[in-house]
Amino acid sequence: MNLIAHLEGQLRELDERSLTRRRRVAGTPCAPRLVVDGRPLLAFCSNDYLGLAAHPALVAALAEGAQLYGAGSGGSHLISGHSRAHELLEERLAEFLSPHLDNARALTFSTGYMANLAMLTALGLDSGAEIFSEQLNHASLIDGARLARARVHLYPHADLAALEALLVASSAQSKLVVTDSVFSMDGDIAPLPQLLALCERHGAWLIVDDAHGFGTLGANGRGALEHFNLRSPNLVYMGTLGKAAGVAGAFVAAHASVIELIIQRARPYIYTTAAPPALAHALLASLDIIGGAEGAARRAHLGALIEQFGQDLRLDRWQHPAPCTAIQPIIIGANDEALRVSAGLYRQGLWVPAIRPPTVAPGTARLRVTLCAAHTHEDVAQLIAALNLLERM
Ligand code: PMP
Repeated sequence: MNLIAHLEGQLRELDERSLTRRRRVAGTPCAPRLVVDGRPLLAFCSNDYLGLAAHPALVAALAEGAQLYGAGSGGSHLISGHSRAHELLEERLAEFLSPHLDNARALTFSTGYMANLAMLTALGLDSGAEIFSEQLNHASLIDGARLARARVHLYPHADLAALEALLVASSAQSKLVVTDSVFSMDGDIAPLPQLLALCERHGAWLIVDDAHGFGTLGANGRGALEHFNLRSPNLVYMGTLGKAAGVAGAFVAAHASVIELIIQRARPYIYTTAAPPALAHALLASLDIIGGAEGAARRAHLGALIEQFGQDLRLDRWQHPAPCTAIQPIIIGANDEALRVSAGLYRQGLWVPAIRPPTVAPGTARLRVTLCAAHTHEDVAQLIAALNLLERM
């Protein structure tokens, strides 16, 4: 058999179903205003929700971090790669989340994907552990559950009664309820207070992936836990540092004993090189902004843009559920139509990618609009006008 021809057949099949994914090379300077192929583009697809990725204070801190610590960490955290910058960042993150967690400690990772693999393998490898996973969870949580080799129960989106029935029927010694806080393709927020009450009633952990909430939700940017004013020893929290925080990486924050277990047990933590310390140094500057007056002002502006988009966008054929977060899906349905609309926006200098299965359910292909604090009200008005026009075509 010709191996290459076999692969090419698989690629052709994806193309025939309008499922091929394409990358675009983003030029400088930074989203949302980019130059791609020599053309200016206004992006509505970045996760840089507070517009911090190009913030002069972060850029300067990154350069200073490289001067202080060099370009790379040179080792895994448990050998020689755990720098003073990592340690300071973990202390700051633990302190930041301490209103919501008992005896809080934080642990940093190179990516959110790895943080989720580590967290779920450390807690889920307990013999007799069972994972109760929300239907719309991010791929990294799904993969973490697979890697943990625990029994996994899926519960339907935001269905508390279904989850409770599963928890009641389970005799597992260790129960892990796992959920995104802000769902990455829908933008709605999980009912965390009710989920936490269920977990406390049934002796389960509540593992919250706040990738899209950390920095954007809560008066001080502490994320979903602050948004709902939650505090519990049952909480295990994951936040990412490459979205609202504007740099890269992620962290898990929880009771110190949970963190110690992850350090001792989690292969995705133990067997990988620590992120460059300069990133941790830049993240200290990012936390100063997120938790300070400038962060509050950026969140307020983002909130006003979200409100504008919800109020002014009027669609007939497509659906816009208008969630209250920076993620604003426009559900179109067919893959080819979603691609056509995305291409139409692109021709007008607006970058909004089409999201198709398997990332979302078949028949729910959509545009995933993300708003960020670096957008203006005029930017949002321009996107709304373009969408209204394309819907009528
Ligand atoms: N969880 C969720 C809900 C996400 O949306 C993402 C990234 N898109 C991740 C985890 C992974 O984070 P990272 O990009 O830092 O790997």
